[in-house]
Amino acid sequence: MIDNTAMFKIPYGLFVLSAREGDKDNGCIINTVTQVTDSPLRITVVVNKDNYTCKMIERTGIFNVSVLAQTVPFSMIQQYGFHTGADTDKFAAGQGVRAENGVKYIETHTNAYLSGKVIRTVDCGSHLIFLADVTEAVLLSDAPSVTYSYYQEHIKPKPEKKTKGYICKICGYVYEGDPLPDDFICPICKHGSADFEPLSE
Ligand code: FE
Repeated sequence: MIDNTAMFKIPYGLFVLSAREGDKDNGCIINTVTQVTDSPLRITVVVNKDNYTCKMIERTGIFNVSVLAQTVPFSMIQQYGFHTGADTDKFAAGQGVRAENGVKYIETHTNAYLSGKVIRTVDCGSHLIFLADVTEAVLLSDAPSVTYSYYQEHIKPKPEKKTKGYICKICGYVYEGDPLPDDFICPICKHGSADFEPLSE
């Protein structure tokens, strides 16, 4: 048997994956970043193809990962996680600092950033896995990293009974708004709008 909720016992984190192409900066929320080897230092990141950030990384081969800390406010998850970024500039308000690779990282509510240079891409259908050499790794603070469980318990707003919105059938994430954009991607479990259902009254 397959119980999808068993998958959430894996300690997912929350990260902003960022890229740059020409004069456009972009980013999205991902929940899996894994160190694969120590020498050479390599990581994998997994990102939904519907995120414009994914397409930018395919073309440019470089990215940054900002590791979100427990202090992250819900507004930041909304800013980076609720749209593909194809026609919005998520860094429009001038947030972010450029790392050595020229790509922005988030300097607030993060405890570290990593820069990656893609050496292999694996197509997993809805998602791409990027295997990358780490070209820069900087510690920004000692604040603990935010886990998915912590996010669920302490950061995600508790929906009120009359809230209009949609709930992710996979992980319980609540999108507060109506309608749910067709290209919406659950920032937590990476499933698309088809896996959401309206909140019951
Ligand atoms: Fe979800």
